[in-house]
Amino acid sequence: MSRLYYKYSDYLEKKYGEKVYKIPLNIPSYCPNRDGNKSLLGCIFCAPDGAGHENMPLDIDIESQYDTMRQLLIKKYKAQKYIAYFQSYSNTYIQNDKFIYYMKKAAQLPGCVALAISTRPDCIEQFHIDILREIKEKYRVDIVIELGMQSSNDNTLKILNRHHTATDVIKASEAVKNAGFELCLHIIADLPWDDKDDILNDARIINSVKADSIKVHSLYIAKQTELERMHQRGEVCLLSLDEYIDRVILLLENIDKDIAIQRLVSRVTEDKSVICTWSRSWRKVLGLIEDEMIKRESFQGKNIRKL
Ligand code: SF4
Repeated sequence: MSRLYYKYSDYLEKKYGEKVYKIPLNIPSYCPNRDGNKSLLGCIFCAPDGAGHENMPLDIDIESQYDTMRQLLIKKYKAQKYIAYFQSYSNTYIQNDKFIYYMKKAAQLPGCVALAISTRPDCIEQFHIDILREIKEKYRVDIVIELGMQSSNDNTLKILNRHHTATDVIKASEAVKNAGFELCLHIIADLPWDDKDDILNDARIINSVKADSIKVHSLYIAKQTELERMHQRGEVCLLSLDEYIDRVILLLENIDKDIAIQRLVSRVTEDKSVICTWSRSWRKVLGLIEDEMIKRESFQGKNIRKL
């Protein structure tokens, strides 16, 4: 049987010769979609912590944040290699001198093989590319840029209050790839304003910009978000678990088989959300996706020639 999909853990093991673990690091970055530069409201689904659910407080320096997690990973898995992961808000949206400081610090942390930097497609400038290229060469670490794409439909992006377009995603992706960095795109597969054609278009973009990996999220309603208010007003009708599974499989069947899959369902703690993963654990949902793929004899890249 073909493999169902290309797991990111397998991709990392192949690349680095052993298991590699991501360590989330919190730095004082922010977001132009929250500070008034683009908007004051933020994306409708974004929680006040800017999706940094696993982050430590900012008053802990990044060496200590990293070391705390590293010691746990050593104890539990005998881990030796790590990715310093800048997850919350837009991690290139920070003063230039601070950006240089944190990236250089992270690149020199023990066992660090890569920096993964999550940001918006409109927050990558030539300055970031130049400094990251310098850090990559000097400290011999890989650079992974994670871009929030969410949807390829500009109307949906407007409803989400993203304040960027699908074209912005394509342009930023090309800049990342041209710089020799790895690219990870995030999408939300069950946006109620998207249909299956949008999922196919997401797949086309993911293939055409040659993303190295993707994260597929399920839409959940975090507390204190505009989405929560919209849901209370009856303006949002969430998709069923079956529809989610259907869309995830459609996406997987239509993306290149060499694109690594970092995630197939959102992971969020119940205390931070009103509705999430159909009241099941993310592992359970993942298992249901895999079971359905086996039942349908489906696998990543199955329909790639039909695009
Ligand atoms: S999801 Fe990202 S871009 Fe949107 S408001 Fe939150 S931090 Fe900003």
